Amino acid sequence: MTAPAAHHVVPDNLRDYRVSRENPCGICGKHDWCLCQPGVWAICQRVESEHRWGEAGWFHRLDGNEHTNRRPATRPLPSTPKSYHRPQAEPSAIYHYNTPYGDPHYRKLRYNKGVLNPERKVCLFEVYRDGEWIGGRGCMTGVERVIYRVEQIPFYDSIFVVEGEKCCDLLWDFGILAVCNDDGAKHWRREYSQALAGKVVTILPDNDPDGRAHADLVARSLFGIAKSIKIVSLPGLGLKGDVYDWIMASGGSIS
Ligand SMILES: [Zn+2]
Repeated sequence: MTAPAAHHVVPDNLRDYRVSRENPCGICGKHDWCLCQPGVWAICQRVESEHRWGEAGWFHRLDGNEHTNRRPATRPLPSTPKSYHRPQAEPSAIYHYNTPYGDPHYRKLRYNKGVLNPERKVCLFEVYRDGEWIGGRGCMTGVERVIYRVEQIPFYDSIFVVEGEKCCDLLWDFGILAVCNDDGAKHWRREYSQALAGKVVTILPDNDPDGRAHADLVARSLFGIAKSIKIVSLPGLGLKGDVYDWIMASGGSIS
């Protein structure tokens, strides 16, 4: 038996069927992007079915019809550019972003000023696929972004949010879990906050306008999700200073 064509099932007033927290998508379970009439049909943006619904996603029936029942999510694979040649130069740092389960996910290669470009620092990303690191233009397309050290979060009640991996790594040396996003100030994404649900969060802003804006953004995003949120401006920081500078200025110790 084949399912009736989607246009026989889906009403015209699609706006009325936008998903929400109260009425999440019957296929992917999320509350944005998709359309759903509970128990009847869904047009999901995330989970593919045989029926592509124009540009708007995929049509699924929700009434038990085997033809369009829930299928496992298939993430779009990042395009693998044929032209990817890893730079010959050694990166000055490599930061690994793992899945929440601790598996390799993607990594960020940092090249200091003068290594790839004489004028500026350069960061390249590589995605882990089948035992290989694949980079190049577009390699992060469709890849779910995570925060740095997300896999450690379950083991800590108190967690710091800082602006870069260098600060995370230094605090880690002191047994403190700090996390950051992979693309710098003001790019905290709302979905990162869920990973910090129920935690005591301390945000350590860099001492510049972007740093303070970033701290505000993170704090607002965590509101109602974290157990508590504090923004702590470290005393005596120079302009653009961060917790790394602060620890170094105190002779490399935390008191
Ligand atoms: Zn969906």
